[in-house]
Parts: sequence; structure tokens; C-alpha cells
Amino acid sequence: MSTALTFRELPYARESLATVLATTGAIGEGGVVANSVVITDATLFYPHGGGQPGDQGVFITADGRTLKVLDTRKGDNGQVHHLLDPAHGLEAGQSVTQQIDWERRYAHMRMHTALHLLSVIVPHGVTGGSIGAERGRLDFDLGEASFDKDELSERLNALIAADYPVTSEWISEAELDAHPELVKTMSVAPPRDAGAIRMVRIGDVDYQPCGGTHVASTAEIGPIQVASIKNRGARNRRFTLVWDETAEEQA
Ligand SMILES: [Zn+2]
Repeated sequence: MSTALTFRELPYARESLATVLATTGAIGEGGVVANSVVITDATLFYPHGGGQPGDQGVFITADGRTLKVLDTRKGDNGQVHHLLDPAHGLEAGQSVTQQIDWERRYAHMRMHTALHLLSVIVPHGVTGGSIGAERGRLDFDLGEASFDKDELSERLNALIAADYPVTSEWISEAELDAHPELVKTMSVAPPRDAGAIRMVRIGDVDYQPCGGTHVASTAEIGPIQVASIKNRGARNRRFTLVWDETAEEQA
């Protein structure tokens, strides 16, 4: 049985009930059982993927024990692996209340959506990326093109302030294959789920395959700035975004 990805349709849900399907040991470095994997029938926890970190949080048992979820990873057969300390004591069939670390996840949602907008104003192939609660980055194959970070920051904040709605929809693999220009990421194949592709739309400015979690409207991202543009090889440039704390204080 696969894990229902509740976070996908309900990215704002912070707490939900789930049933434990199975638990196994996760083999860490040196063959030591570092953590234990807990698989549930449904999850609010986003598993590490597409540059977005796995969620952290807690599972609360029916008898009131609070168990830390250290990380979340993709497993086999559509299952999601929650990594817990091996002393969790959970068994298949037990119900748990899942609570995600919302502050961290919401920062990921805001930063992730901001990186979509960065790919709008830097219209070049994306060769890599990573999302954090404090900063996010995308690497682009720029070729000869060059950009000014202050000008980009201004354009980015204008797109954020325009408050575009962010929505998702599913298309078939055949539809995506007929429109390869929709794929901006050169290094990662878009997530495919039983022949369907999840597309994320930001108003009329961005439309691309993505399996991550996003905010519902761009204004939620808040003030941001392009902190640096650095060389990563002959053609690649790394664009790093950070929150604009000074603008937040003025607001
Ligand atoms: Zn996305």
C-alpha cells in the first residue's frame, strides 16, 4: 500500500491523523541502524525531493507520547519514509497524530515559490537548485547572458507584490512530452505519478511541472532579495535568494 500524499492537495494542513502501516530499520553510515523508518497510510510530511528538504515534526501517539520525526524521504512503491529514533515503539495498525514543523515548512513553501518566480525573470535552463528556510538557490546555464542582482531583486519583488494565485493541475505524460519547453529544469526529470504530471501555475507568468509545496499566492512570499550571482563553471551561474529582513521591518 502506498502513502497518500496529503500535503499535495492540502499544503496548509499542519496536523492530521494517520495509521502506521509498517516500521523498519534504516541503515545509516557504517551499517549501523541510525534511525527507524515509519510508514503511514497518509502523510502531511513532504519527502526530500526536487531540491526541497524533507519535513520535520512530531508524531503523537494515542497514549500521549511525542515522537520526533527527524527527516522524511521517498521510499519504494509510492511509500513515504519518516525517520524516527529507533526507540519509537510504534507498531503497524496504531494511529498517530502527525504534526509538521510548520514554521520551517512554510518558509520552504515561500522560498520554493520565490524560486519559480526567479526562473521567470532569468529565462534560461535550470541546472540545479536547493531550497532552505533561510535561503534558496538556482543554478542556470546562462551562456553569455548576464544579470544585475539589484535589478533582478526589484523585478522579483514586483512579481511577489502582484499577488498572483498559485494553483496546480495534472496533465498526461503525452501532453508534457508534446510540450518539452514546459520543462525548465535540465538536471531533474519532472515527477511522474502513474502516467500523470503535476503542473504548477503561477497566474499567467509561470507554468511548469513540480511536485513540491507552494504558497497559495505570491504575496505570501514577502520581501526577498537576490543576495549573490556567482560563477559555477564557464556557463553556469548560481543565483542565491535570501529574505529581505530590512523590508520586513519597514512593513
Ligand atoms: Zn515548485
